Amino acid sequence: MTAAAPICTIVPPYVLDRLAEAGHEPAAHSLALDAAHRTARLSPAPPVAAVPPVAATPGLDRVVYDAGHGQRLPGRSVRGEGAPASSDRSVNQAYDGLGATFALYADVFGRHSIDDRNLRLDASVHYGRNYDNAFWNGHQMVFGDGDNVVFGDFTACVDVIGHELTHGVTQFTAGLDYQDQPGALNESVSDVFGSLVKQYALRQGAADADWLIGAGLLAPGVQGVALRSMKAPGTAYDDPQLGKDPQPAHMRDYVNTTRDNGGVHINSGIPNHAFYLLATALGGSSWERAGRIWYDALTGGALPADADFTAFARATVAAAGARYPDDRSVADTVTASWAQVGISPT
Ligand SMILES: [Zn+2]
Repeated sequence: MTAAAPICTIVPPYVLDRLAEAGHEPAAHSLALDAAHRTARLSPAPPVAAVPPVAATPGLDRVVYDAGHGQRLPGRSVRGEGAPASSDRSVNQAYDGLGATFALYADVFGRHSIDDRNLRLDASVHYGRNYDNAFWNGHQMVFGDGDNVVFGDFTACVDVIGHELTHGVTQFTAGLDYQDQPGALNESVSDVFGSLVKQYALRQGAADADWLIGAGLLAPGVQGVALRSMKAPGTAYDDPQLGKDPQPAHMRDYVNTTRDNGGVHINSGIPNHAFYLLATALGGSSWERAGRIWYDALTGGALPADADFTAFARATVAAAGARYPDDRSVADTVTASWAQVGISPT
């Protein structure tokens, strides 16, 4: 892990840009903080005295810190692994979200924390004042409280926590470049596993999942349901302040732009929708087959850092064939799902 690791904030820069241009002060302030994170030299959080774990999950080790509305990380340690719940809801939501993410990766994929070596999961809550974002900085999670006008508390959504920690998984595995199509794949796999963290926590089948990223994050009064929709990219919000969700669902609508690292949070709608189509076509629990195929493709070691959508699609078809050698229909369904978004893996 290096200081050069890309920092993905869950709210894309173009959303905050628009709010700031309209005079929304917390958005302007949040953008300034985000710019500072991108150039900051990061140091790991200090070690914490071990708390005797209670009914510990092997390898699961979490520490939640309170940044006290300041900008120094990590802040004051307020809840370590196995410690009782705090009176602070944000602390508990962060703690639980880290645990839910660890559980998906460990229970379903046999992965031991994001580095597969039981990396301690650190998170700071109450970062900054009215800070409209959350991010993984290469060492830890950071959550703002939101401004309560456009965004609420960023610890509220378990899929947002799963999304951010999956950037860590990608860093330790395929290391997808954070630019253009590989960058949009990097974003997409974070949405995919973020949604799977939520579905697994709720033990929800593909047919019952909301397929939204950040449902409940938008403040009351904002016209929208979430930050992104994997089921129907481009429909998550349409609001006078936020603008309209710009995500395409098909290659014919691919957005060529230099903003947002080449539209990494925009064009991710295309592979997101391919995953949704696959998971719902296969049915049952998304993490069982569709999730396993995506996980194998991401972590199998054959995917180059500069993989484009077609290269990733090929990797998923190969992963499906290798994982389900006796049922060719699975790989065929993967191919068909990509074809529906305009990508031919063959
Ligand atoms: Zn991201």
